[in-house]
Amino acid sequence: MIEYENLGKLNAPFFDEYEKAFKQTLESGWYILGNKVQAFETEFSAYCNTKHCIGLASGLDALILSLRSFDFEKGAEVIVPSNTYIATILSIIHNGLKPVLVEPDIATYNIDPAKIEEKITSKTRAIMVVHLFGKMCEMDSINAIAKKHNLKVIEDCAQAHGALYKNKKAGNWGDFGAFSFYPTKNLGAIADAGAMTTNDSDLADKIKTLRNYGSKTKYYNELVGFNSRLDEIQAAFLSVKLKKLDAINQHKRNLAKLYLSELKSYFIKPVVHPDYFDVYHIFNIRHEKRDALKEYLLQNQIKTEIHYPVAPNKQKAMAGIIDNQITPIAEKIHQTTLSLPISFYHSEQDILKVIEVMNKF
Ligand SMILES: *Cc1c(COP(=O)(O)O)cnc(C)c1O
Repeated sequence: MIEYENLGKLNAPFFDEYEKAFKQTLESGWYILGNKVQAFETEFSAYCNTKHCIGLASGLDALILSLRSFDFEKGAEVIVPSNTYIATILSIIHNGLKPVLVEPDIATYNIDPAKIEEKITSKTRAIMVVHLFGKMCEMDSINAIAKKHNLKVIEDCAQAHGALYKNKKAGNWGDFGAFSFYPTKNLGAIADAGAMTTNDSDLADKIKTLRNYGSKTKYYNELVGFNSRLDEIQAAFLSVKLKKLDAINQHKRNLAKLYLSELKSYFIKPVVHPDYFDVYHIFNIRHEKRDALKEYLLQNQIKTEIHYPVAPNKQKAMAGIIDNQITPIAEKIHQTTLSLPISFYHSEQDILKVIEVMNKF
């Protein structure tokens, strides 16, 4: 059986260093907001080439706090891609704001800059872009639109650790980059964890205050805050894994290259363009008979996933919120997309096997 993912196998190369990091943190007796979090923040901001990184409890929290820090008026609108993971949209709703869906480009699966301006109104305050599957959005066009209309830009980088557009990293283009270290992500912890990057020192300071009960000095509360702290043990693990992030990304790129060159052309493959350094958090193809293909692969001992089976505006939870927004392109993607195995632990042989079976479909 070729599994879609196996987190035990994925993390096996790091077990020895994790055990050392765990023991050291345990014995230090300092478990919340100590030097492990501070060290990881310094290392990750250096990795992303940003001035600041703030460790948080999850990717969703990073998205929520990024919007919260701007204090937009209730009911203000935030532009977001129609085919994103639900977290991006939830972060807007949890701030009392209105998600305005913009359709993706069918070739890149990322928000189509040409469709943004028609959705901007006098209530629009921000654009939340999502670098889906490990490919960055067209950030120069998006930032030009944001500048023209005086909008904030937040990058959802949960699937794009180390991805580049025009040689500049994800998390370094907008007011904020929101990262998730959920275990399956290219840089994954072994529990929930997240972070935010920014080049704005005032915003970094505000997020640091918000994550810790709105407090800079213990028991003195300046803001209506949260408890959203990255913990010391996960930070220590993340520092271990960060050293290998480029190798992880490169391995996934090598596996993607095999799929791209060997899969028959009746599978619609991800586009490749020299402006983009893709990190393939997910390698998806599209096919009209997606469900039959998934079943056929399973019968041939190959597990796949669907990211995602249901478009956000068709989710039960979104009734009365965004279900009146029409998104045919997102729906077409959701009906035809299939994610193939592309873990750090998969070998080239695994991928060649998947290709061989797929090309007989
Ligand atoms: C994983 C993910 C998130 C949420 O991250 P959590 O750490 O699970 O909260 C947000 N956006 C996208 C695009 C994701 O893939």
